[in-house]
Amino acid sequence: MSSFFDTKIEYLRGMGPQKAALFNKELNIFTYGELLQYYPFRYEDRTKFYKIIELNEDLENVQVIAKIRKVETIGDARRKRLIAYIYDETGEMELTWFKGIQWVVKKLLIGPAFVFYGKPNKYGRKFSIAHPEMEPLSQVQEEKSFFQPVYSTTEKLRAKYLDSKGISRIMEGLVQVAYPQIQETLPMEIIQRFSLISKQIALKQIHFPENPEILQKARFRLKFEEFFFVQLRLLKLKLTRTEKSKGQILNQTELLTKFYKEHLPFELTEAQKRVVREAFGDMKSGKQMNRLIQGDVGSGKTMVAFICILIAVSSGAQTCLMAPTEILANQHHEGLKEYADLMGLRIALLTGSTKKSTRKIIHEMLLSGDLHIIIGTHALLEDIVQFKNLGLAIVDEQHRFGVAQRAKLWAKNEQYFPHVLVMTATPIPRTLAMTLYGDLDISVIDEMPKGRKPIQTVHRYDKDRLKVFGFIRKQILEGRQVYVVYPLIEESETLDLKNLMDGYESICRAFPEFPISIVHGNMKAMDKDFEMQRFVKGETKIMVATTVIEVGVNVPNASVMIVENAERFGLSQLHQLRGRVGRGADQSYCILMTKYELSKDSRIRLQTMVRTNNGFEIADVDLKLRGPGDLMGTQQSGVADLLIADLSKDAPILTMARDAAQLLLQEDPELSQPQNTMVLRQIKNQKKHAINWSRIS
Ligand code: ADP
Ligand code: MG
Repeated sequence: MSSFFDTKIEYLRGMGPQKAALFNKELNIFTYGELLQYYPFRYEDRTKFYKIIELNEDLENVQVIAKIRKVETIGDARRKRLIAYIYDETGEMELTWFKGIQWVVKKLLIGPAFVFYGKPNKYGRKFSIAHPEMEPLSQVQEEKSFFQPVYSTTEKLRAKYLDSKGISRIMEGLVQVAYPQIQETLPMEIIQRFSLISKQIALKQIHFPENPEILQKARFRLKFEEFFFVQLRLLKLKLTRTEKSKGQILNQTELLTKFYKEHLPFELTEAQKRVVREAFGDMKSGKQMNRLIQGDVGSGKTMVAFICILIAVSSGAQTCLMAPTEILANQHHEGLKEYADLMGLRIALLTGSTKKSTRKIIHEMLLSGDLHIIIGTHALLEDIVQFKNLGLAIVDEQHRFGVAQRAKLWAKNEQYFPHVLVMTATPIPRTLAMTLYGDLDISVIDEMPKGRKPIQTVHRYDKDRLKVFGFIRKQILEGRQVYVVYPLIEESETLDLKNLMDGYESICRAFPEFPISIVHGNMKAMDKDFEMQRFVKGETKIMVATTVIEVGVNVPNASVMIVENAERFGLSQLHQLRGRVGRGADQSYCILMTKYELSKDSRIRLQTMVRTNNGFEIADVDLKLRGPGDLMGTQQSGVADLLIADLSKDAPILTMARDAAQLLLQEDPELSQPQNTMVLRQIKNQKKHAINWSRIS
């Protein structure tokens, strides 16, 4: 159904084909509807002026009235910089330009007062604004509207006079023609219950707010709506899934009882017991399990997985466990084989490096049902891998797998979808989990096995390296092992490799008495594995590596994790890395090495790591620093497509919207009642763009 909102934007007043083409290309905006949803990313209060002494780093853009004392250009031709020193009656600051210098310099007159506008940053003790907007004070007109919308724009748009002001002018025309056409999308009952303003008013006020209160309401309404439809879609899928996806009934516990009695090497934590109960509840329910287990590194997810495997095998089904890397698959295989052997179960490993002849045998044994447990990498997904009766599929560290890949697992049992258990060591804040995995059931292992000593984390500068080396030596002499990790950023692989090699050499020079391993992404899987194994066995004392070791590897004797260039890692990555140590009974340490100058965000990341070991707390900070778009898994989930709502800040609105969606579905599961027609239409529209959520795991 085509509507007014599908009209191409080139027909809009003041637009024309050229500008429209730019909107298409630069912003991916084609229609009235899309443009109308191009919301301002902030509003400017151009009635407020700051004194230089009032500035602080937390301020966004500010206006300062000041005069210029001196202008100078520094640096060579390649990295030229223009600096203007400005002052008011309270202090001094700087303005800098890196581009368009010849053009700017002409405007920088000494004498008259200007209004400068931009984001203040602190360098040393002085504030500086890079590329400020500027206007002579004499020409500044008094602003009528106290909240001007600011739209993000691009160089190319700006070149065609589509800066924020230009976009705002076009938006004015659009809002005028669109206003009478805007229809309500939420049911009346919800609007009343949550005191929302109408869609019509919200859309107008979000672009051209009349006062702060109504702007607040407009934002609330639009955020609510955005969350509401995402949640509604997810909940509806979950409803459909639980209704339609029959699950094999796996309710036998013979092996489990035997294992508990005879072989369980430690007492399960309360959290592990709870999660086992939750998973068992699903497996015996007759509905397909689709459960995510979140648990910090070292919280003991593998044991929970094995227990579920025992239930499945007791009940006559086969099981698979898929890991993202060969190293990890190997390790899982080794760890679980020990238990499987004790229990008399047949287990095998299938990866890219499995020999052809072995592969063939494995394929046959899976098909005949002789193999109870198969551990592997992506190799498990190949079509040739067929089971007699796959009952349980476990996916470790799920963010490494694409949605489509995981969906392939589902196809491996014709009669029933296998029960699916996804394990992740990336703690996700509740708000994000509700959106990312809204159609999965979530279990959390929020307790560490007893007797673990919390890892001590410190931040050290490069100049302290000798001391750090001294510490490493002491630890190794006490019998421990040490990781030294270097960042790997894809864009400059060669540079990173050089960095790693340099580091390796300097460590070899510093510790000629110890055998040292090195592992990086450019090595063949076999060589990687060989080195990794040497370290696991304790033959080598130091493991120099890139982030290949990030995921899951377990070397209980390793007690020190050194992260080089720690400022280049994200928080969740640092936390993952730290999780490699602290797995044994000894006190463990994490040393974050950085250069001396650090950005504000880097500092917050490092301070957070030093302050806490709690993965969920870290994930929260991460979400606040980076916004949800950058977090693992969010790109493919469509969360990054949220236009106005922000998962890191709008958790309360999300909760309300989810409640509203739940209530609606309780009253009208099919959304077939007349007052919900509009809602149904909205979800259907959304679906066209979204991935198939029912197959996320
Ligand atoms: P992760 O959740 O990171 O996958 P693992 O399953 O690898 O953690 O467990 C980390 C270590 O803790 C392993 O050596 C495992 O044997 C041990 N472990 C797991 N559960 C317990 C427990 N309840 N008590 C003591 N040690 C445990
Ligand atoms: Mg693990």
